[in-house]
Amino acid sequence: MMMQEEPKVTVGIVSAARLCFTLNGAYTIEEKVCEGRQEVELVDGAIQWQGKDYQELTFVPTTDHASFTLEDVTIGVNFHWERKEAQTFLGKLHFVVANDSICAINELPIETYLTSVISSEMNATSSLELLKAHAVISRSWLLAQIENRKAKVKATTASMCSCTKTETELTRWYDRDDHSLFDVCADDHCQRYQGITKATNIHVTEAIKQTRGEILMYNGTLCDARFSKCCGGVVEEFQYCWENIRKPYLTTLVDAPQDNAPSLDLTNEDNARQWIQTSEDVFCNTKEAKVLKQILNNYDQETQDFYRWTQIYTQDEIRSLIEEKCGMKLGKIIDLVPLSRGKSGRIYRLRIVGSERSFIIGKELEIRRTLSKTHLYSSAFIVEKTNNEDGIPQLFTIKGKGWGHGVGLCQIGAAVMGERRYNYNEILLHYYRGAEIVKLHK
Ligand SMILES: [Zn+2]
Ligand SMILES: [Zn+2]
Repeated sequence: MMMQEEPKVTVGIVSAARLCFTLNGAYTIEEKVCEGRQEVELVDGAIQWQGKDYQELTFVPTTDHASFTLEDVTIGVNFHWERKEAQTFLGKLHFVVANDSICAINELPIETYLTSVISSEMNATSSLELLKAHAVISRSWLLAQIENRKAKVKATTASMCSCTKTETELTRWYDRDDHSLFDVCADDHCQRYQGITKATNIHVTEAIKQTRGEILMYNGTLCDARFSKCCGGVVEEFQYCWENIRKPYLTTLVDAPQDNAPSLDLTNEDNARQWIQTSEDVFCNTKEAKVLKQILNNYDQETQDFYRWTQIYTQDEIRSLIEEKCGMKLGKIIDLVPLSRGKSGRIYRLRIVGSERSFIIGKELEIRRTLSKTHLYSSAFIVEKTNNEDGIPQLFTIKGKGWGHGVGLCQIGAAVMGERRYNYNEILLHYYRGAEIVKLHK
């Protein structure tokens, strides 16, 4: 592959009928130089700026250091900590009209963007090798977004069905929808991006510099570098969580130094039951605070029992949860029966047996959402029913392993590998089998 110039990324920051911003330094627009506080407003479908109407407006910085500050940027959309904040960005500022509002888009070189997102996502105490592994993953993900959007602009036929529902079964998976006006948004939907509002972490800057331009490839194509919090000891394969296609570099493996495939076939129910109730010596089986703090954003508030976990529901609790989540009445819950498990033991088809009717749900995230007010840690679980009254269990104990879909890199495992002095390419090639690290741009 030819070494290319550093690509640019467009990021959707905010959209509103009226936007106020400050140009901290000289910017050019229509060959004029402009600085200081500005306002744009949507009037009769056009962007009004300084008394004139535009369909699009682009402010171009005259130096690398010029920045702009957007007021009232909503961060954490739909999260309980949603709030508005002024945020400062490097690069171009572009306004377009979209859905009865003005959308502010920031265009900047990808390495600058990555420094910002990894600084806000990763803990400052992370090992350099873990940060470097994450830098390569984020860069691969970002370039995939940029490529996808280019491909979509050309071909309009691509449509992916992610939901099939019959009288007796619902299969649904949740993959990200792509954006059409820009490559990525600034929220958690893509990656949280706050420009240079917060100081960048010097370790992250170093990790980006040392891996500049590097991405993961398999057979000449960009890898879909998925990752999750904790695989629970065995890594899952792509097709059990999302679309039914096999990605050879997202294969199952034991999260341990030996390059072994799982010795037990965990798609087998008896094997999976046995495995979920044992504890192995694997990378992500750790309670070390130094490691967990690198991955858990709210270490003090969050549980540390996710390598193995237990969730208990009463009959009333589980019945109303399922009724609400499935949007149908199943009666009293008699059983939860795993029908199909993926290679890490994660259930991707689950039969819910009710006193009035039964229903089958999948894939893993649908199961996790159905059996919890928020999300069950993972779908690698077994169910124990106790306190039977007239054939109706009054208590359901769900015992599980791992946190997240478990496909690709296991963040806790990777953090442990970083602490044990594995280097970033060993970490990446442990989780993405057969992939290679390629330098794409200068
Ligand atoms: Zn997004
Ligand atoms: Zn793991």
